[in-house]
This record gives sequence, C-alpha cells and structure tokens, in this order.
Amino acid sequence: MQIQIYNTLTRSKEPFIPQDPQRVTMYVCGPTVYNYAHIGNARPVVVFDTLYRLLGRIYPRVIYARNVTDVDDKINAAAQKEGVPIGTITARYHAVYREDMSALGALPPVLEPKVTEHIDAIVAMIGRLIANGHAYEAEGHVLFNVPSYAAYGRLSGRDRDEMIAGARVEVAPYKRDAADFVLWKPSPPDLPGWDSPWGRGRPGWHIECSAMIEKNLGAGTIDIHGGGHDLVFPHHENEIAQSTCAHGGALFSRYWMHNGFVNIEAEKMSKSVGNVLLVHDLLKQAPGEAIRLALLSAHYRQPLDWTEAGLREAKAQLDRLYRTLDSLKDAEATASAAPEAFLAALADDLNTPKALAELHQIANAANKATGAAERARLKGELLAAGWLLGLLQQDAAAWLKGNVAADMDVAEIEDLIAARRTARARKDWAESDRIRDALAARGILLEDKAGETTWRVAS
Ligand code: ZN
Repeated sequence: MQIQIYNTLTRSKEPFIPQDPQRVTMYVCGPTVYNYAHIGNARPVVVFDTLYRLLGRIYPRVIYARNVTDVDDKINAAAQKEGVPIGTITARYHAVYREDMSALGALPPVLEPKVTEHIDAIVAMIGRLIANGHAYEAEGHVLFNVPSYAAYGRLSGRDRDEMIAGARVEVAPYKRDAADFVLWKPSPPDLPGWDSPWGRGRPGWHIECSAMIEKNLGAGTIDIHGGGHDLVFPHHENEIAQSTCAHGGALFSRYWMHNGFVNIEAEKMSKSVGNVLLVHDLLKQAPGEAIRLALLSAHYRQPLDWTEAGLREAKAQLDRLYRTLDSLKDAEATASAAPEAFLAALADDLNTPKALAELHQIANAANKATGAAERARLKGELLAAGWLLGLLQQDAAAWLKGNVAADMDVAEIEDLIAARRTARARKDWAESDRIRDALAARGILLEDKAGETTWRVAS
C-alpha cells in the first residue's frame, strides 16, 4: 500500500517514500510541561499517533520521537511561584500529559527526549554552527545568522518583512540582522542554567529540537517532521536552518506535516475569551475514545471546530459501533487486517473522515450478516480498522455499561437485580417480572443463565 502525504515543504501531496524502509523516522514537536494540555495540544498527538499506527502496519520499524521541553520561561515562572525546583513542575505535568494522552488512546512514542538531558548535544551543535559561520556570539547570547542560509523562508513561503513581523523578533543592539534568532541565552543566577563556552545560560527553543533529532534519530535526514500549523513559522523554519547548516547542507526532513487549529464553538480558543478546554476536564465528561473520534472527525489539515454537540455525536457513534461489537460477542474474529477501502482512505494523506465512514460500513455489514464465517470476518475487520484509528479498544459490554452510567446509576441497576433475585428466591414471579420489565423499559436487558443474572444495554 502506498501512503500519500501532503508535504508542507512542497505544498503538494506526494507518495511517501522513506529514506530507509527498514527504519522509518518521525519526529513531532512535543509539549512544554508546565500545565495541563488543552484540546488544541491533543490534536497533533492523536493525528500523529494515527499515522504512527498506519506506518507501523506497513514498515517493520518506525522510530517515533516526541520531545519534552522541560526548561522554559513559563516553567521557570511556575516553579518560582510554587517555590520548587523546575524538575518538580516538569515531572508533575509530564506525568499528567502522559496519562491524558494515553486516555486518548495515543501509544507512547518510542523516544521522549528531554531538553535537560540534551544540553551537551545542544552546546555541541551551537559550537559547530559558530565554527562554520552560521552563528555568532554577542553579549552572552549566541544567535543564528539568518542571511547566512539562503533557503530560509522556504517552508513557510514568507518574505523577509513578513518573517520579521511574524516572529515578533526582539530588537536587540547585538543582533547583526533583525531576523537573527537566539540559540543560547544567558541565565541569571536565580534561574536554571548550564555552563557553556559562552557563559552560564540555557538554550533557545528552536535549537532543542534540532539537537534532539540529531542525537536520537541521526545526523542525516529524517522521514517525517510534524507538529501544529502554528509551528511552521518560526519554529520549523528555524529548525531547518539550524540542522541543514549543522549538517553541511544535507536535507533535514523529507516530509513536513502540519495539523490545523482547533476552534471552540466557532471561536478561537484563548485564555482571554476563557474558552480553553483542558483534556483533563473533558475526560471527566466523556470517554477518551469519544474525544479521540471527535478529533479525527475532520481531516487533520482542516481547522477543527470543537463543539459539545460534536463530542456527543462522537460518543453516539461509538455507542453504535460497540453495540455491533457486542452483538458479535459469540463470534471469534478471523480477519486480522482492515479492509482495503478503509486502508486506502487512511493512506490518502490520513483521510480520517473517509476512514470513519468506512468503519461504519463494516459495522453496517456486520449488523446485517447472518453467516457465522461472515460475522467472524467482519468482527476481525472492525477490530483491525478500529485499532488503526485508536478506537474500539474497550470491552464492548463494559463500554455499554459505562454508557448507561451517565443517565442511570450502575449501582441502581445492580440493586434492582438483587431485589429481583430475592423475589425469585421466594417464588414471587410477578415481582420478578415487574423488575425485569421496568429495567427493559429503560433499555437494560437481563439474562438468566446457570443461576446468574447478567445485564446489557439493548441495542
Ligand atoms: Zn520542534
């Protein structure tokens, strides 16, 4: 199967051809860990997790790295506010991040490099950039000299004035050029810092990724570099400049992929509007898979309008799919691969809306199927396709019971079943039937087998 990827660098959809099919490399810019992740932060995680799952089905080895920025002004501010070392803040929020993203069905990346564990690699790369004339030291800072790299601006397609305005570059007297950006900056004694040939300081944001990619994925070319659309400029433009110049002009990444923004109820998400939705809070309202499906319901390059109605619809879709799975519980899944039409949708630049439609097609076919072999095959296809989207990974009966919990207490159902058992013990069949009918009216079906009563949600 041939994957097609829209490459931001060439502004076209291209066949994905990895440099080494035995070792596919993918890097995605990860979180700065000082607070809870919001739904906009979760979108690239879910999108690139879906790509990682697809790549893993085709290639024998996929090395997916997602960094952790664990030193930053915002982290410093949070640590000072609490009077704790930055490591206390970063360990806490990295743990929360991992937990929340795992609840969204995101597999852990193969590598999660941390900035504080790569200071040597960062210092070494900056040293090379100074040595080959692409960077210079000025007043304790080291800056990348933008005019030294002719292809600067190719990824974002911005001209020089737009770039300077867009980067909100600081005007500093020590800069040779207004567009030059910081690789290393001094740290005052009360803030975290590391010794370097340019004095005690800490790295700029952009150099972190270049150095961590070099150290973890190799000093040559990686296959895929991803992140949110807001990172195209200046962050990814700067990563390209640093890595290409540090590697003697070698291509940095073959494919650049960027996901669109998440808006909330048609409005831009912002602290000032007060509509920032944290994944941590959303997980209290809806299962992780429902949040994930809602995120995958739009194509990743399109903006996603996050709405409460959309989340409810995602949950309802999953309820339908799990009801199908539950109805197949007596069938032993035979097929272990998703059907061609589903794979073709996903391989087409990760067309998840189409893939979801195909997933429902499989479920519809399964709902109509009567032959044992057909039901077994469709169950396998449903599970395999679901896995590629990171969906349908829960036990169907448990999902459907959880589903009930929202409007009917599970404990209440269990109490009614216990009351019915007592009625049956005294041969009060009328009361037993009354309880059964009352539950059935609320969509709960009872099944008596070998002296045990189990329940499920009517499909
Ligand atoms: Zn990055």
